[in-house]
Amino acid sequence: MASRALATLTYAALDRGDLATAETLANELLGAESRLGHVSGEAAALRALGRVFFGQGRVEEAEQTLQRALALADPLSQGPQPADPASTLLLLGSLAIERGDFPVAATTLADARALAERSPAREHLTTRANAELARLALLQGNVADAQQHAAAAYAGASEHECRRCGAGIAATLVEVACAAGELAIADARRTEGLEHAFRLALPIATAEIRGAAGRLLAARGDVVGGRNECSEALAVFERLGPVYMVERTKRRITELDVTGQAQTA
Ligand SMILES: [Zn+2]
Repeated sequence: MASRALATLTYAALDRGDLATAETLANELLGAESRLGHVSGEAAALRALGRVFFGQGRVEEAEQTLQRALALADPLSQGPQPADPASTLLLLGSLAIERGDFPVAATTLADARALAERSPAREHLTTRANAELARLALLQGNVADAQQHAAAAYAGASEHECRRCGAGIAATLVEVACAAGELAIADARRTEGLEHAFRLALPIATAEIRGAAGRLLAARGDVVGGRNECSEALAVFERLGPVYMVERTKRRITELDVTGQAQTA
């Protein structure tokens, strides 16, 4: 199969959350691209494989695979980078957040954002890196920084009019707005994000946004509705992955149960 068709099928499988199929296809793609000597295609195939491993909770394999993609970039080049290291660094940054290694996540995401200037995916990467920096700041309890990064991410997605970025960053935007007590903004970001995810048929992004919206409903006093949103999201993550979202969503449901008990006590 031509490598372009393989790449299309690989990304479609990732979008559907069919990680087993995506793994087979990404390995085929990797073989084809390395036989052809296409550095950009090889790096992209390694990133796809890294995303599969990340989603399956195979964290060490994900890290090794992404480091292989990163090693294809020329660290001394001041010109275009066919291996697109910025895209790889963004994934490594997300992986570091999931491992709880916040200092590494911060530098890796900052590097991704800086190198994005020379990437063919510049607008997408800048937007995504800002959203991940927002999520990181939130995890570190720095709501003001999170708001700043989230605003930059939202502006970026709006500027390049990108539904895919809009869907991908919405869950973080909802969480940041909730943490800042800006419930009207959280609601608007949820609605927009769900619309983008629906149009592109992205089940995992949809579940992420619904899970994040659980907290919004709870903040408005509808703990039962919030819990429902999280349970629906959990069912999707249990079926499709990513596995780290299963744990995260279960924790959120426990938090909502505690909130609910406090309200009825
Ligand atoms: Zn985009």
